[in-house]
Amino acid sequence: MSDATLILCHDCDQMNRIGEVPLGGSARCSRCGGLLFRRIRNSIDRTLAFTLAGMVLFLVANLLPFLAFKMQGQVTDTTLATGVRSLYEQGRPLVATLVLITTIVAPFVQLVSLILILTPMKLGFAFPGQVALFRTLHKVETWSMMEVFMLGILVSLVKLLGMAEIVPGIALWSFVLLIPVLAAANASLDHHLVWDRLGRNS
Ligand SMILES: [Zn+2]
Repeated sequence: MSDATLILCHDCDQMNRIGEVPLGGSARCSRCGGLLFRRIRNSIDRTLAFTLAGMVLFLVANLLPFLAFKMQGQVTDTTLATGVRSLYEQGRPLVATLVLITTIVAPFVQLVSLILILTPMKLGFAFPGQVALFRTLHKVETWSMMEVFMLGILVSLVKLLGMAEIVPGIALWSFVLLIPVLAAANASLDHHLVWDRLGRNS
């Protein structure tokens, strides 16, 4: 890392000159005390571990049955994708698109980007496009809102409880687990370190 870096405070716009920050430490704004960045121990290993676990959960959440409805002796299995399709068929294309983006596309792009950025970093090589990918990751993060979708599912389940017997599938549990795992991956990611490494390689 260079001797001193200039960092603009997000809270008060003060320009801060920051020297070396030890691992586990954090840099704060000299004017308002706002957090500028945090140096996280074993950031790349930890984030990569959470990301790979997240990818497994994501695949299970998308490929296996999400919910089964038992009504009058008939069992209907649903997956995340069939849920999106049935929203579309019910004449709610906007909701279907939002669910598709926030619960399937955004988390997938997030997981794949993290794997493509961190695996080469871990193994000690780089490829062109990683900077653009990391920038995309920042944009996509705001669209990843699985917890909102989860809340929606809970509300609909409560409404459906009287009408049908609902059996949660393994995908539902994976989805529930994926939310904290993805949050942990984001929390372990040391953005400062990643930008520093990306800058050095380019
Ligand atoms: Zn400040």
